[in-house]
Amino acid sequence: MARRLAQLAQVPVDDLRGVGPKTATALAAVGVASVLDLLLYYPRRYLDRTATATIRDLAEGEQATVLVEVKRVTARRTRNRRSLVQVSVGDGTASMGITFFNQPWRERQLRPGMQALVYGKLERYQGNRQMTNPVVDLVGDRTGRIIPVYPQSEKANLMSWDVAKLMDEVLERAGTFADPLDDDVRRQLDLVDRTAAFVGIHAPESMAEAGSARRRLVFDELLRVQLELVRRKRELERTTTGIEHVVAGLDAGAAASGSLVATFLDRLPYELTGAQRRAVRELAVDLAGPHPMHRLLQGDVGAGKTVVALIAMLVAVQGGHQGALMAPTEVLAEQHHAGIVALLDGLDVPDGVEGSLFADAGLRRPLQAALLTNRTGAAERRRIAAGLVDGSIDIVVGTHALIQDGVAMASLGLVVIDEQHRFGVEQRAALRDKGTGDAVPDVLVMTATPIPRTAAMTVYGDLDVSVLDELPPGRTPIETTWARGPLDEEAVWADVRAEVAAGRQAYVVTPLIEESDKLQVASAQETFDRLTGPDGELAGLRVGLLHGRLGAADKEQTMALFRSGSLDVLVATTVIEVGVDVPNATVMVILDADRFGIAQLHQLRGRVGRGAAASRCHLVADPTTDDGELRAEAEARLQALVDSTDGFVLAEVDLDLRGEGTLMGERQKGRNDLRLASLRRDREWVGRARDVAFAIVDADPALERHPLHAEELALFLGDDDAGDYLLKS
Ligand code: ADP
Ligand code: MG
Repeated sequence: MARRLAQLAQVPVDDLRGVGPKTATALAAVGVASVLDLLLYYPRRYLDRTATATIRDLAEGEQATVLVEVKRVTARRTRNRRSLVQVSVGDGTASMGITFFNQPWRERQLRPGMQALVYGKLERYQGNRQMTNPVVDLVGDRTGRIIPVYPQSEKANLMSWDVAKLMDEVLERAGTFADPLDDDVRRQLDLVDRTAAFVGIHAPESMAEAGSARRRLVFDELLRVQLELVRRKRELERTTTGIEHVVAGLDAGAAASGSLVATFLDRLPYELTGAQRRAVRELAVDLAGPHPMHRLLQGDVGAGKTVVALIAMLVAVQGGHQGALMAPTEVLAEQHHAGIVALLDGLDVPDGVEGSLFADAGLRRPLQAALLTNRTGAAERRRIAAGLVDGSIDIVVGTHALIQDGVAMASLGLVVIDEQHRFGVEQRAALRDKGTGDAVPDVLVMTATPIPRTAAMTVYGDLDVSVLDELPPGRTPIETTWARGPLDEEAVWADVRAEVAAGRQAYVVTPLIEESDKLQVASAQETFDRLTGPDGELAGLRVGLLHGRLGAADKEQTMALFRSGSLDVLVATTVIEVGVDVPNATVMVILDADRFGIAQLHQLRGRVGRGAAASRCHLVADPTTDDGELRAEAEARLQALVDSTDGFVLAEVDLDLRGEGTLMGERQKGRNDLRLASLRRDREWVGRARDVAFAIVDADPALERHPLHAEELALFLGDDDAGDYLLKS
């Protein structure tokens, strides 16, 4: 009988012949309790014995791996109490000494007669060959050309070769493994079977074999995640009823149809970009369909997401439904509202509910769009609430105020959520539930913080994704420079003064202080004082200050002054990150830019380049003030901003630099099944796994014909940890 992983999960490791109480304790310390845990304890890397050098042939200063036998070990302390372990080794061609400083445990680890692979630089000391603090991998009595190196734990006293020996027993006793993947899928993707995969990862004959094994196991990990996401997505679709919206008017040349959407497109002062048209087409399919839409619209700042969302809302409105747009801040909500009202000017809709006498009589009224935030006065709030309930307000734009109690809508057809990362799952669900009918409204989430496709598929795998990867024509790309020192910085301020002299405006973002809001404000104030003081770089200019601790009225006043051109420069904290839209601003200066993440820098930069004039972004950061490793990462980040203005490219760089950990952090808690798979290295396999998952689930929704997949989902993903999903019903 072929072995199932679920069976191995039931067998404790001490059932293995090679595991006594001591080894069991050591294994427990690294989280290995069952035979399955052990099987999934993968090698960290491999040593290829065919690629080793001989001591005799090594030149002085050369780095290499040599396979040696330990001859003698001595330990002592230096005069200043440093531990010193000296080992002499040989490989049959020559002998050499190894010196370990501050690694006293080497005395216990290395015993005469042991085989070890040693990686280091050959030195000559008093004429003798030696290496200092080399990397050592104990080989034990393993034979074979490729030696797996397992994560070892000195503390738990678990050595790589102990694990390797146990693995031999596991593989031998397991025999063949049941394979959940159909043969034809395997062949199509050129993947080895499961037995070959487990043998190949733990005891490969060649590096190529280890590679094929890894590929198969990576695929299995990704497939499990995708199966779970796709299954949930399909289940939500099956169990909820959406609105089949009237998508008329989207096709080219449809203006004649007289539909609201056609009229809108006809009057739009510009042509949609190719990416916008594609996104609208993708949305239209969802909107017309019987299932509620759950779609993510990704696009850089300025890519034109708003108009796409508006078209979708008009699709809802022309079928007699309402649209709601929720933004994370009042400023953003107000801007959206103003922009939408301007675009909707002159559009009208049938008066009265569909089928009513008024509609039959062909009476029409202007399309109504309302703004609802915490600043909305009581009387206006009552008027809006009434209009939402009786359906006379077609589109409502707002902040969290939209999801407060007392707001109900006659027929909410589409929910648009801007800047998804600022809203929690519950808030999205709350807004969606504002509809009073049985049907579930469609949901469109917009984000200007692109994440790489593969990451989107994994992190937002229960959403469909549309991408606006094209900016409207006529934009002048923002030129980004990195000011590394005082001379560069002088040029930055000269640029600010020159632009102001030419009638333009500038932003200065103050150093980020994450620890405390109060310190952040102090830093903003200090920067403002320094720049505007008598000897300041911006002396004589009209400069405003904006930070989070200002009252709403003060903030509004400062913004209004900047917008109207009465201020030349706005010194601000990251409160300007989203939503501020002043086309005349052409310079963005970000101080201590190395403290910001890529996404945040990109967002900040997006505040300029909104008009026709060429814009510049200056990143001010002196990398020498940071320490070692951090600096390298910060440099890579800043260089990426200098090199690219494409949010998707930057998102990929960010993923490369930070890894998926941060990205997955919030949503993927508990999803610890990705042991081998990397969303970076294995990008293309994410998509393949997703395709296979769709094929399986669509043919077999309950996984009845694929019981092994079902069993493994339960085994690896559990019942709870797939729980925190967007819009979970
Ligand atoms: P986003 O929300 O993606 O940051 P917006 O929707 O605010 O971008 O659009 C940015 C600007 O581009 C707006 O002024 C908008 O009117 C304009 N715009 C959008 N689509 C186009 C287009 N296809 N052609 C020209 N201008 C466009
Ligand atoms: Mg629908």
